[in-house]
Amino acid sequence: MSEGAAIDDVLVVGSGIIGIACAHYLNQAGLKVTVIDRATIGSGCSHGNCGYICPSHVLPLTEPGAISTAFKSLFQPRSPFRVQPRFSPALWNWMWQFARRCHHAQMLSAGRHLQAILDSSLQEYRRLIAETALECEWTENGLLYVLQTSHGMAEFAKTDRLLTTEFGVQARRFEGSELTTLEPALKPGLAGAFHYPGDISIRPDLLNANWAQWLQQSGVKFVENCELVSLRRTAGAISSLLTSQGELRADRVVFATGALSARLSETLNCRIPIEPGKGYSVTMTRPRICPRYPMLFPEHRVGVSPFKTGYRLGSMMEFAGFNTSIPDHRIQQLRDSARPYLLEPFADGELERWYGWRPMTWDSLPIIGRVPRLANAYLATGHNMLGVSLATATGRLIRELLLKETPHIDPVAFSPNRFL
Ligand SMILES: Cc1cc2nc3c(=O)[nH]c(=O)nc-3n(C[C@H](O)[C@H](O)[C@H](O)COP(=O)(O)OP(=O)(O)OC[C@H]3O[C@@H](n4cnc5c(N)ncnc54)[C@H](O)[C@@H]3O)c2cc1C
Repeated sequence: MSEGAAIDDVLVVGSGIIGIACAHYLNQAGLKVTVIDRATIGSGCSHGNCGYICPSHVLPLTEPGAISTAFKSLFQPRSPFRVQPRFSPALWNWMWQFARRCHHAQMLSAGRHLQAILDSSLQEYRRLIAETALECEWTENGLLYVLQTSHGMAEFAKTDRLLTTEFGVQARRFEGSELTTLEPALKPGLAGAFHYPGDISIRPDLLNANWAQWLQQSGVKFVENCELVSLRRTAGAISSLLTSQGELRADRVVFATGALSARLSETLNCRIPIEPGKGYSVTMTRPRICPRYPMLFPEHRVGVSPFKTGYRLGSMMEFAGFNTSIPDHRIQQLRDSARPYLLEPFADGELERWYGWRPMTWDSLPIIGRVPRLANAYLATGHNMLGVSLATATGRLIRELLLKETPHIDPVAFSPNRFL
């Protein structure tokens, strides 16, 4: 199918939050959409994450101090941010490109692009929830960053000032003495907190399942356990996809394959520099004194997500390849990290231990746009630590690019062409 021909069918590869969002916007445009996944719907990195939709997270990982943190982690196997020393030219090139971008000007530039897509995504989520009434534990409590020490408070105050002056993101500052009234689950004696009221939280597995179900009822077809193995090309376009369940054809193909996307580089004849950034979570029954607010503890780099029927601690960033283990010490570390802050940092009933590979790009920006040398193929991947937060605007942008509508945000910074 040539680029100019009318579009009928679209195939989305990958049913994480990004694939689901792309399917939604394409379906809304009247296209016939099929989503395939090598596993089950929403079972990748989109399953057990912290569930924050956080416009306050405009600052990219490529910040001035990041590279020294990464270097120190080579010698600290238990660091929450860890690069496992191993021979991998792709990883070392990724690290080199990442390191080149860890300076103030680049941080602000990436932050502005992130802010555009974060803000748009939140607006799109609000519309989605209003229109579909999806049950996903949508909670408008903001996000509370809690600091244990006065040094931590002073350091975070600098970040907060940057967020306000450069991005207009406003927080309310609370001193230590005010905290237990604000959040009775916190221990007395903490230094203080910053509350970002514009952030939202949801329960990720509920959002994936209920959104996919809603789409199925609206005519989107989901095919689980269907792995894309390779593809056939004719005249600069994909003519068919070879999958574990046979050959499939579509007019357009969207690859929303998360951290596994780099494996498609050769097949798509396109550079996709994504490394898996492995994180962990542990989900428990709700402790007796369960937090009211979703919280982050920046000094220990752990996130707390209270759900209606559970409670999750999540964190870590390991560059260790496609490693699938869940070591006991990492789960223990999550629990220990929450201990200085919470009266009841965990509950007895452990429901799930989980890992996910975040799709990490070296410039902290997602990759959204047409594959350079293939007329009918699009990438929607590389959402780093923000896939949930960025999903809806990504889906909308994919629809706009695919249908040649005017994009609602500038797509240039997200284009796959930046890696040519
Ligand atoms: C601990 C932790 C906490 C996090 N917290 C947050 C948060 O609070 N807020 C936030 O915004 N983000 C958060 N994230 C990041 C977020 O989870 C990811 O950015 C997001 O899930 C990426 O979504 P995705 O759809 O691109 O990838 P995935 O969910 O991994 O989906 C990709 C899908 O593609 C499928 N696939 C891959 N290759 C093929 C193939 N060849 N054939 C068929 N199917 C294929 C996979 O099976 C998978 O289902 C967190 C991540 C972690 C690890």
